[in-house]
Amino acid sequence: MKQKIRCPEYFADFTCIGSDCEDSCCNQWQIYLDRATFENYTRIKDPELRRRIDEFVEPNPKDQTEARFGRINLTDDRKCPFLTTECLCILQKQLGVDSLSQTCLTYPRVFNSFAGMLEGSAEISCPEVARRALLNPGGIRFVERELELDSRFALNNTIKLEEPGDYPLAQYYQPLQDFSISLMQDRRLSLPDRLTVLGMFSSKMQSAIDEGNPIGTPAIIAEFDELRCFDGIAGNLSQIPVNTTRQLQLLKSIVDEKLRRGTGIATFRDCHEQMLAGIGFDRDDQALVRFTAGYHNIYFPFMAKKEYLLENYCVNYLFRTQFPLFDKDWSQIFKAFVHLTLNYALIKFYLIGIGLDLGELNDEAIVKLVYSFGKAIEHDSGFINAILKQLEQKNLLTMAQMAILIRN
Ligand code: SF4
Repeated sequence: MKQKIRCPEYFADFTCIGSDCEDSCCNQWQIYLDRATFENYTRIKDPELRRRIDEFVEPNPKDQTEARFGRINLTDDRKCPFLTTECLCILQKQLGVDSLSQTCLTYPRVFNSFAGMLEGSAEISCPEVARRALLNPGGIRFVERELELDSRFALNNTIKLEEPGDYPLAQYYQPLQDFSISLMQDRRLSLPDRLTVLGMFSSKMQSAIDEGNPIGTPAIIAEFDELRCFDGIAGNLSQIPVNTTRQLQLLKSIVDEKLRRGTGIATFRDCHEQMLAGIGFDRDDQALVRFTAGYHNIYFPFMAKKEYLLENYCVNYLFRTQFPLFDKDWSQIFKAFVHLTLNYALIKFYLIGIGLDLGELNDEAIVKLVYSFGKAIEHDSGFINAILKQLEQKNLLTMAQMAILIRN
């Protein structure tokens, strides 16, 4: 079915690279089955497929909603049991693409809709998406295309202008998103400055929402549009105090929490080991000295030439999550900003450690870290929510704390 869609340019040409993929999505993740697919699998007669279905497919014991009615359990080596030795899907090979579950069919694509226009984006946890999205020096460009789309693709979220319902800010969605993305792509400012301005903007918007005054939104957008064009803005932002000791403490405590919950994904564990080897928390009491040197001698010089890598990460994130929504909720714009900031700060933290371990940073290391971070952290919504709750309980959900995480 041909459909008009607004999407990043890379999305329009994306194709899965299948058996050439270095970290297939068919490994290490629990795979959920929608009810229709689960029921179709119970009717399959082919003896080999039947054997695998009987052994590995079962109703989902935790959540029997339509989308997650069943699940495919992984083999002992944490692979999908339907993968062939050439890393191809045996179900798709024998029964065609229609046999795939909605999850398998849709991933890594993410579809949202606003005012009847479909928005297509993609998960950065797919290595091929990470390469296409990040490694573009010109930045992510958005296009409108007529694309052939499978009618079974899952729709993540819908915002209707005529029935705003849970979305009282729906009329401002487009200006809010356009402003956020154009700010994130404004290369007159450094990326940490862009994030800081986005934080100040989100904080002001949050106050307007809390006071029940969303009609002030266009004026707030205009105010921050003027602010980012102000010649002295970088000088003013450079007065914000840097606190690397506190930054390292906060990020280390978040990473320790992730370790307690299990890192799960093998490539992320590799990156984690590299980061630990580079910063050397357990080696002596010089971790802060090494971290600071790693930032100034490796991370900063690399990003001075290739800041577009993390700009593209942030832009992809803002579009995919329908910023300013936080988990589909309009009333939490500051939390939406905090979530992006945590991801940015953790990626920077890992890259400093990995850079120290390798003695340099390069595109390959960054792509690997970002897609494995996507798999291990972005897809672990329970972990992110637990961190946000902890920060809230300690009164750390503030712009001052976010500036500490952003700025070095
Ligand atoms: S992670 Fe991406 S490229 Fe790799 S197998 Fe999955 S969809 Fe294809």
